[in-house]
Amino acid sequence: MSAAKIFCVANQKGGVGKTTTTVNLAAGLAQVGRRVLLVDLDPQGNATMGSGIDKRALALSVYDVLLESASVAEARQPSPKGGYDVIGANRELAGAEVELVELERREKRLRAALATVREDYDFVLIDCPPSLSMLTLNGLCAAHGVIVPMQCEYFALEGLSDLVNTIKQVHANLNSELKIIGLLRVMFDPRITLQQQVSEQLKAHFGDKVFNTVIPRNVRLAEAPSYGQPGVNFDPASKGAQAFVEFAREMAQRLG
Ligand code: ADP
Ligand code: MG
Repeated sequence: MSAAKIFCVANQKGGVGKTTTTVNLAAGLAQVGRRVLLVDLDPQGNATMGSGIDKRALALSVYDVLLESASVAEARQPSPKGGYDVIGANRELAGAEVELVELERREKRLRAALATVREDYDFVLIDCPPSLSMLTLNGLCAAHGVIVPMQCEYFALEGLSDLVNTIKQVHANLNSELKIIGLLRVMFDPRITLQQQVSEQLKAHFGDKVFNTVIPRNVRLAEAPSYGQPGVNFDPASKGAQAFVEFAREMAQRLG
């Protein structure tokens, strides 16, 4: 059995669809028969809640994993409806940012922790916070690749350059395996001409680094978290759910 491929879902902007992508890709990959671990690296804990796990009731979280007071095997738990495992996060994680600065191997804590369970999964998906912080750095050091969700808006390409530079620096200094797996167009509305134009620019600029699958704007995806379920499970017939299952197939095909 081969070891897990580890991917960060990252974009330093907030509200661009990182958490929705992580949760629904996890559920989609589970649906196509892959073993998945989701790691919530955002103190907001949205991926935890969206996976049906109460962030306020976590006995152990990714905070404990980063500070090495718990192992991954101890801190993970199954998403009740998602079909994948979760290492949850909550506000406590915000403190890790400061505490890690004092510690050795501070960027590589998550990488070391995930190495202990790589045989248990086909995919590990890390939901990053909206910043290029020590937490995101831990995600990037642990990963083989980065999935970048983005909305096709006017400043989208500009915002990408900071992320691309950070990925280059991490690649050069900390993790030579790291690369951009692909850009995922999310919350897409084909009726908006500007979105089509930006989408074309993206393809012209990044070529086959742009995933074929496009995730439409779909209210069912936005409603699902309040039911503690990935959209993929909450309303499988919805356009959003179907797009994420399609995206999971594309990922599984590209990357095993
Ligand atoms: P991030 O993690 O980057 O901050 P989220 O995934 O939390 O972004 O998404 C931001 C908001 O947009 C959330 O309210 C989410 O439900 C909503 N959203 C995300 N993707 C879609 C979509 N494809 N269609 C409709 N709403 C979406
Ligand atoms: Mg988020």
